[in-house]
Amino acid sequence: MASTAEPSIAAHPKFEPVIGLEVHVQLLTATKIFCSCSTRFGAPPNTNVCPVCLGMPGALPVLNKKVVEFATLAAMALNCRINETSIFARKNYFYPDLPKGYQISQYDKPLAEQGFIEIPSGKSKKKIGITRVHLEEDAGKSLHEGFPDADEKTAIDLNRTGVPLIEIVSEPDIASPDEAYDYLTRLKEIILYTGVSDCNMEEGSLRCDANISVRPKGQKELGTKAEIKNVNSFRFVREALIYEIGRQMDVLESGGKVTQETRLYNSGEGRTYSMRSKEQAHDYRYFPEPDLLPLVVSEKWRGEISNSLPELPEVRRQRLVADYGITEQDAVVLTSSKALADQFEAAARAAKNPKRVANLVQGELMGRLKAKDLEVEQSPISMNGVARSADLVESGAISGKMLKDLYDLCFERGKDFPQVYEEEGRPEQSRDTSALEKIIDDLIAANPKQVEQYRAGKKTVAGFFVGQTMKASKGQANPQLINELVAKKLDG
Ligand SMILES: [Zn+2]
Repeated sequence: MASTAEPSIAAHPKFEPVIGLEVHVQLLTATKIFCSCSTRFGAPPNTNVCPVCLGMPGALPVLNKKVVEFATLAAMALNCRINETSIFARKNYFYPDLPKGYQISQYDKPLAEQGFIEIPSGKSKKKIGITRVHLEEDAGKSLHEGFPDADEKTAIDLNRTGVPLIEIVSEPDIASPDEAYDYLTRLKEIILYTGVSDCNMEEGSLRCDANISVRPKGQKELGTKAEIKNVNSFRFVREALIYEIGRQMDVLESGGKVTQETRLYNSGEGRTYSMRSKEQAHDYRYFPEPDLLPLVVSEKWRGEISNSLPELPEVRRQRLVADYGITEQDAVVLTSSKALADQFEAAARAAKNPKRVANLVQGELMGRLKAKDLEVEQSPISMNGVARSADLVESGAISGKMLKDLYDLCFERGKDFPQVYEEEGRPEQSRDTSALEKIIDDLIAANPKQVEQYRAGKKTVAGFFVGQTMKASKGQANPQLINELVAKKLDG
């Protein structure tokens, strides 16, 4: 086979991509959307099922109230308008893992519409519109491996049938694979803050489909789109988009036509492959679900739900910057999960100097975690441990250098800071002033000009001597003590 050049976006400067994303998020309710079967992941196949989710004739769905509350909360966090009345609809298609022959979803009257997510864009922000958030039930799962005659047969596990999902559909506002990645990252962060899903991609709690088309720059109307289905990590979404955009540009540039179709991404090869021609909405023969009443989320109920809306990541970042005097970058790291942000705030409030806690997390903790490939949640040093160590540095009991050594020991031993500090016999930095005084005396003798400036009223020059003394003591000495001694010597 002749080798072909890899598709490349950069090779086609006259074209631009247009991307829209559809994200399915599983809601963390204990039971399914229309029956009381458990939603627990990993149960033996076909044990969490009943006549309703098996689609037995005559079995009627009953809507789970908690599902509506979770979906509404998520939609509010995504800045959507909640429709007072929404309608469940049947989406008809035949597939082995869909026992009823239709999926209960929402069609022309979804739960929520017109939201947005802000993503970083250079130094400012870009709004990506959210067309709609609607409720639907999940289908079952076809199993192609893991049982004796798997090479001849496909097995079906219907535990997942009827698990509650929300589908979040973006506007085609996404202009690059990087923007798609940022959108998904922010989306997941927001959903995690609301607590309505664990967004676990390995277990399928968050799934992403991408619609991509390409058009000549300056053209208003959209090109023919292809859909890439069920990519299972954000990194792969970005890679799949890079490949697919380049592929479509190649097709158009060489005078061909893009086919409307569904494609699959093979992450091992970094390519997308045609799976089937894409269904149009009318192929599903949507009609209102006759077994369910219109869903009404009254103003009063909306009010109650909005009371449980937490402070969202973007707002929290701004507040942390204002409250604790930390940088934007610190705030981004510290708000990457709600649990971490909560722990940080508790520790910072308990510590003598909140800024020092933030600095230690950013400067000492994150690097060590990264080196060991650990998540913050797996850190041997807890936020309480960071707060304790920050106080010890603040009071001058230990030096910055000693703190670094103690942190190293914590990671070696897999133990929290207070424990290692005790094991090491509560080390303290030297308060022996004679060695420091000698250093300062020498500095004063060697820098008469600076001494003169200081004594003439330029008190900031003290900083020069403090810095030089710190350097000469190799960071072992207590900064507060050096400050006192320098002032005493210069004044005296
Ligand atoms: Zn059931």
